[in-house]
This record gives sequence, structure tokens and C-alpha cells, in this order.
Amino acid sequence: MTKIVIVGAGVAGVNAATKLVDNGFKGKITIIDMGLDPYRRPAADVMRGFLGAGGWSDGKLTYHTSIGGQLSKYTGDEKAMELFDQVIDNFKRFHPNPSEVQCSNPVAEPDFIKPHFGLRLFPVWHVGTDYLHEIGKNWHDYLVSKGVEFLWETKVTDIDFKNQTVHYPAVAEMDSRDLPGDLQWISNTTLKYDTLIFGVGKSGIDFGKQLAEKYELPTEPKSVQIGVRFEAPQEHFQKLIDISYDFKLYQKFEEKGVSLRSFCTNNNAAYVAAEHTYGDVSYNGHAKKDEAYRNDMTNFGILMEIRNIDKPFDWSRKAVEKLQHEGVGLFYSPSHRVPSKTSEGNYVEAHVVDSIDVLYDAIGEYALHIEDFIMDLEKVFPTLGKDWGIYMPEVKYLSPEPLVNYDDLSLTRFPNVHFVGDALSARGITVSGAQGTYVAESILKKPVEFPDFHIHENF
Ligand SMILES: Cc1cc2nc3c(=O)[nH]c(=O)nc-3n(C[C@H](O)[C@H](O)[C@H](O)COP(=O)(O)OP(=O)(O)OC[C@H]3O[C@@H](n4cnc5c(N)ncnc54)[C@H](O)[C@@H]3O)c2cc1C
Repeated sequence: MTKIVIVGAGVAGVNAATKLVDNGFKGKITIIDMGLDPYRRPAADVMRGFLGAGGWSDGKLTYHTSIGGQLSKYTGDEKAMELFDQVIDNFKRFHPNPSEVQCSNPVAEPDFIKPHFGLRLFPVWHVGTDYLHEIGKNWHDYLVSKGVEFLWETKVTDIDFKNQTVHYPAVAEMDSRDLPGDLQWISNTTLKYDTLIFGVGKSGIDFGKQLAEKYELPTEPKSVQIGVRFEAPQEHFQKLIDISYDFKLYQKFEEKGVSLRSFCTNNNAAYVAAEHTYGDVSYNGHAKKDEAYRNDMTNFGILMEIRNIDKPFDWSRKAVEKLQHEGVGLFYSPSHRVPSKTSEGNYVEAHVVDSIDVLYDAIGEYALHIEDFIMDLEKVFPTLGKDWGIYMPEVKYLSPEPLVNYDDLSLTRFPNVHFVGDALSARGITVSGAQGTYVAESILKKPVEFPDFHIHENF
């Protein structure tokens, strides 16, 4: 019997298993996850357990191929949309109230932002966080009823791609789970697979990296993603916020291999946060829901994607290092605004500089694109003027993405190992689920294996 092992019960793994059992897959499916099933998963465990990070998320299912990571690169646009439909149908199918799953479809791009910016508008299906828990239970029970085996609280620590085995420490069979921790006994367990689906999401990013290094997996060339976090009073942007709450403006310069976009827009109670990565400070933003935190500010990243840079990771690291001063990042405002306060009431940690030249020192002439982007903001939002500040840098270090065969997302060197979801640079529920479904479809297309027949030579 064909054995499929799925590492990660996230959106990608669960959709893969669902596609398989829906189509009468006859083999054995085992899903291993370090979190808990939907009945026992605590609300505080945001990343792990049934439906993974998607299970406890905002439940916004984006419905456009340019959002949420790469899918059409592998499948083409038409197939990608068909796969999205399958994922959304699954969320409706296990929803206690399917009619409440509604799609919001934004209006057309407003004239006032043209010709300076494009505005990325896309439909979103809303499931609702509270419903996700109920959906999780129904979905889990369906898979169990179809014979899918789940191993919970089990962290896979190694995978042997050559011998096709998955390794994890497990509490020994003679159940010692009820004993105090120091009295439990642990055994190392090995599970054999014919096909492996690797869907460990963001919480397993280091594990993916570890395997990529161990097997020296070839990776996709990556781009640099660097820029600044822009901040200004919300009133200047209200006209656009009324049309698109978390607006996504973009500019493209194809011939230069450069594109810019506003990233992760926060309004109303919008805060800038300093992040510590690889010993340096960079910036990000978040919004608070509670009205008590309202500060009527807007912030967003102005992120520039630069393609064709040799060793993008090293290049980004060097640029980030140049934008540090005594252990903090930099802040510039032409109107001498000061860094804003965090939601805890402290000033955002940043060293104030009196010109934008530091950005040119760090990233060279690419800084011109960021300055132009800001000047275009001033044109499109006339009240903005110089009433803004920027925190430098904002950076996304893209993790290496293993090179896969585009028709089934299998590793080029290990065709029975499929990478899916955030482990393959997806960034959202719909794309992750669709990648899982896509892999399951490829498995279903493979010829059915029959038990070994021994044909006698004298027959
Ligand atoms: C707070 C939050 C809110 C979000 N809101 C949205 C949203 O509204 N809309 C949207 O589209 N996206 C949202 N996202 C992103 C979305 O949740 C992810 O893109 C998506 O869940 C990725 O699916 P996945 O299956 O690849 O991984 P995940 O869903 O992250 O699942 C991975 C699973 O693998 C398990 N795992 C990891 N390592 C191991 C290991 N070594 N052994 C065993 N198990 C392991 C984890 O426990 C986890 O359950 C949100 C993310 C977060 C964190």
C-alpha cells in the first residue's frame, strides 16, 4: 500500500489530504504535526496545530494570483484560480454557516492616484476567525472518518530523503504521557514513506533550511527586498483608505529590474515596531484593534524589490549594517517630526538623522526610487507635504526556496518529496492550500500500484 506522510497539518497539508481522500486515494495517509488537534489547541498557540497558522488567523482568503505568494508561476493563471476555488469550497464545506462566507470585491482603481501609482485591488473571501475553530473541528473529523492518521505533539527532527524515512522523538508506546515530564521515556521513531509532502509553514522555516543545507538542494534565485517604513498622520491618506483600507500602491520599472510597493499598511491605531534580526535593527508596522490605542496615524513599508543582484542576502545584510547607529536604526523627517511612540508608550528606538543621504550610502542609486516614490505620494496626497518621517531600513530576508518541478512541486533531486505552502514561499492561506491541492492532484494522476505479483518462470 502506498504510504504518504505529510509533515505539517497546516492549510497546505490538510488541503492535500482532503483532495486525496475525496478522490478515493487507496493508500495510507499520515499527518504529523508538533501542535494539537482542533479540540485541544489553545488559542494562544497561533502557529501550530490543525490548519496551522491559517487555523487561528483572520480568515481572509485572498482570491487573486498576484497576492499571497507564487502559484501561477507553477500552474499558470487559469489553473491557479481553479485551485483557489477548491480551497475556498473546502472552507465553505466545513463551515457551520456556509452562507456567511462572503467575498468582498473592491471598486476600480481611483483616478486620483494615476499616473503615479498602480493600486493593487483584489477580491477577498471572509471566513471569520471564530468560525475557523469550528471549521477545523468539522474538517478534522472528516479526514479521520476517511482513515487519515494524525500524530499530534510530534516534532519531526530529521528526514532522510535517500532512505525515505521521517524521524521524530516520541513518548514511548507504553503510555508515559500522564507521568511527570522527568519520568516520561522517549524513543526515537522512524516512519517510512513512499511520498512525502513537506508543509511546515513559517514555524518550520529553520527545519526547511536545515534540510536544504543537508542535501545541498538547488534553490530559486531570489531578489533583494529592502526599503523604509513610512509614517504620517492618517488624515492625508483618508481619501484612499475609504476606498481600500489596507491599500497596496505599486510602481514598476521592468527595464531596471526594480519594483516598489507599499507593504503592510496600518491605520487608526498604527504603530511602528523595531525588529531585531541577525543582530541589526529593522522596522515593521502593526495595528491595534482596541480603540484605546487609536493614534490616527498611518504607516506602511515602501519596499523595493531588486532583481538580478548577486548574493542578495549578503547585499541586504551589508545595506542594513550601514543603516545602523549604535545598535539602532535611523529615522529621517524633512519637517523634523520625531519618531512616534510604540503601543507600550515608549518612543520607537531610532537614531534621528538630518538627511536622506544615509540611504544613498547604504543602497546606492536605488535610493532614488524610494525618494521618487515619496515625492509621488506628495503629489497624489496634496495635504501630505513634508509631514512625514521614515524609519530605515525595512527589510525582508527571503529564505532560500528549493527548486521544484513545476508540474508537481517535487524537489528536482528527490521526485517523491513535495514542498508546499509557506515552506515553498507561499504567504497566505489560499495559495498554500492550493499548492497542497495541486500536489495531491499530481499524486492521483500517478498509476495505481498493485501488490507485488510473483510470476513463476515456468508458468
Ligand atoms: C497571526 C496570523 C494571521 C494570518 N492571517 C492570514 C489571513 O487572514 N489570510 C491569509 O491568507 N493568510 C494569513 N496568514 C498566513 C497564513 O496563515 C499562512 O500563509 C498559511 O497558514 C501557511 O500554510 P502552511 O500550510 O504552509 O503552513 P502553516 O499553516 O503554518 O502550518 C504548518 C504546520 O506545520 C507544523 N510544523 C512545523 N514544523 C514542524 C515539524 N518540524 N514537525 C511537525 N510539525 C511541524 C506546525 O505545527 C503547523 O501546524 C496569517 C498568519 C499568521 C501567523
